[in-house]
Amino acid sequence: MIIDIKPLELSKRGACPETYSFGADFSDHMFSQNFEQGSGWEKAEITPYHALTLDPSAAVFHYGQEIFEGLKAYRSFDGTINLFRPSENFKRFNRSAKRMAMPEIDGKFHLKALKALISLDHNWIPEQVGSSLYIRPTMIATGKKLGLGASDSYIHFIITGPAGSYFKGGFEPVSVYIADKYRRAVVGGVGEAKTGGNYAASLYVSEEVEKLGYSQVLWLDAVHGKYIEEVGAMNICFVYENKHIVTPALSGSILPGITRDSILKLAPALGFEVSEERLDIEQILADIKSGKITEAFGCGTAAVISPVGKLCWKGTDYIINNNKSGEISKQLYDELTGIQYGTRKDRFGWIE
Ligand code: PMP
Repeated sequence: MIIDIKPLELSKRGACPETYSFGADFSDHMFSQNFEQGSGWEKAEITPYHALTLDPSAAVFHYGQEIFEGLKAYRSFDGTINLFRPSENFKRFNRSAKRMAMPEIDGKFHLKALKALISLDHNWIPEQVGSSLYIRPTMIATGKKLGLGASDSYIHFIITGPAGSYFKGGFEPVSVYIADKYRRAVVGGVGEAKTGGNYAASLYVSEEVEKLGYSQVLWLDAVHGKYIEEVGAMNICFVYENKHIVTPALSGSILPGITRDSILKLAPALGFEVSEERLDIEQILADIKSGKITEAFGCGTAAVISPVGKLCWKGTDYIINNNKSGEISKQLYDELTGIQYGTRKDRFGWIE
């Protein structure tokens, strides 16, 4: 399939501030492609970033049939542009599509489209250390129908925008509130799909928790309200006795993070033990109290590694590593970002 490229005459880049906040500014161009039942994917094009015109009856507005992804392009120390495991994002996109009764995309073709888009907008990739170009592939149901059922038309688009360094104030730990009343996802539901409804349902809880002075929500499983799932839009890891990294096993209601998977592969090569387990919140809190847990951190594309200094459970704070970021969190952060920015050996061939 051919990608029709319609470049913008004059870049908006000059009007963009030099310090970027996440998701506020967008690059000049976008990729899009339409799907119609019967004819499949067609009209692949890269055009200037523009507003979409949709019918108010479009299925996405009513039943939330939509999926998305999040990955980044990094400007490496020698000026080349690095993508980190992008095929994994397209594989997850297709798994999400399947679960949401949406058409799958051709991963190879979309990677080609993504690379064409980034080549065109390469001057939007910031140069400052820690910054990157955030990439947001999305698919929405555009069919005009209020009758409940999968849409017969879709648009898949990719937009990008510069993202500043996540740790502007240093590699500081976050405080986390363990949700005791609300749940994010249930096994058999859509928790392992990257679909908007999961995030919409979390907003109220995030706001409540923020009022209490915490910056992230730790989600427990919905059946027992007992087993740890994930933290905000990140997976979570605990470090036992400075050597053993433990993360919740994928249960069906946890988003399988690419950063999480990378840590499970990378950490053993750095000399750490890793395991995926069912983690009981009471046991984890007891292990924090006894000092067996020496560090905790969230992991995801946005922050890479985000140290956790404090967990609040039913009004009591449990402090980890004196509320300081730990050495292992930092070591993993340095190693992963080193691979992304091309300053450390890409021993697994993760960079394209
Ligand atoms: N969990 C959720 C709910 C997320 O939204 C994300 C971000 N995609 C993650 C975990 C981490 O995934 P990744 O490492 O692929 O960014």
